[in-house]
Amino acid sequence: MKQIRFKKLAFLIVRKLRIPLWIQKILYDLFYRLESILKYGDPFFARIICFEINTGCNRKCTYCPVSLDKENINNLMSWETFKAGIRQLKEIKFSGSIMYHFYNEPLMDNRIVEFVQYTTNELPGAISRIFTNSDYLNLELAEALFSAGLNDIHITDHNLTKGRIAKRVSPIVEKFKNRVTVDEGLGHSADRPIDNRGGLIDVVALGATEYLRKDCKVVWEEVKIDVNGNVLLCTNDYYRQHIFGNINKQNFKDIWFGEEYSRVRNNLRKGLAEYDICLKCNYASPEKIK
Ligand code: SF4
Repeated sequence: MKQIRFKKLAFLIVRKLRIPLWIQKILYDLFYRLESILKYGDPFFARIICFEINTGCNRKCTYCPVSLDKENINNLMSWETFKAGIRQLKEIKFSGSIMYHFYNEPLMDNRIVEFVQYTTNELPGAISRIFTNSDYLNLELAEALFSAGLNDIHITDHNLTKGRIAKRVSPIVEKFKNRVTVDEGLGHSADRPIDNRGGLIDVVALGATEYLRKDCKVVWEEVKIDVNGNVLLCTNDYYRQHIFGNINKQNFKDIWFGEEYSRVRNNLRKGLAEYDICLKCNYASPEKIK
């Protein structure tokens, strides 16, 4: 409990002092690495766990693989799977971030407030966050989410015309200052690199700039658990080609420290890849393992 109180206090101070986001990220990163060494013996233990609570999205952006599929069926993650994941994270005292998306729009799922509330109750040391296109967001829902313990809402504005979403959600931003951010120009700014999603999206045709990194941060920073409980390689594995385990059958910690998953992560941190999807990925552009 002491640790949770310290963390909540730290968040409050950071918000009050209006410390720039990039400094907040560095401080949090250092804190989490240190904590992970002490808890798991692994400084790079997953910092973000995303549950694909539903599979549907109401949009079809050109730079998103959802646009490649004719159908976009909205399957729902079962409560049993979600609870199994949260229970396993509780057992290891997970205190990173919990999110509710893969390629889905999480606010399309009308259980979202319950999911957030469940996470708050079971994992009080974790940070619950929502990434959304905001099409289903209104003041009432925002109030319910924050009352359920949500930390923040990150709105990704996918419109060609900037400003429309910011205007629409301004009453929410006004009410929940520093807890709701609008990220504009995603996929439409020449100065913003676009992820080619492991080679699925022709970003050159979209006029995107390139990422410059060789190592992959995504694979060790963020875990995607899909609608069926599968632990996936990364956020770019849209077609779920590489699955390292399933939380309905195994414990998350055992999956994380599994031989293949550990080897792949360690190599990608050094800029080396063994899967085709990684070799085609423009986010990291790793080299092939000889
Ligand atoms: S390098 Fe591989 S693991 Fe990393 S983001 Fe790209 S596809 Fe995912």
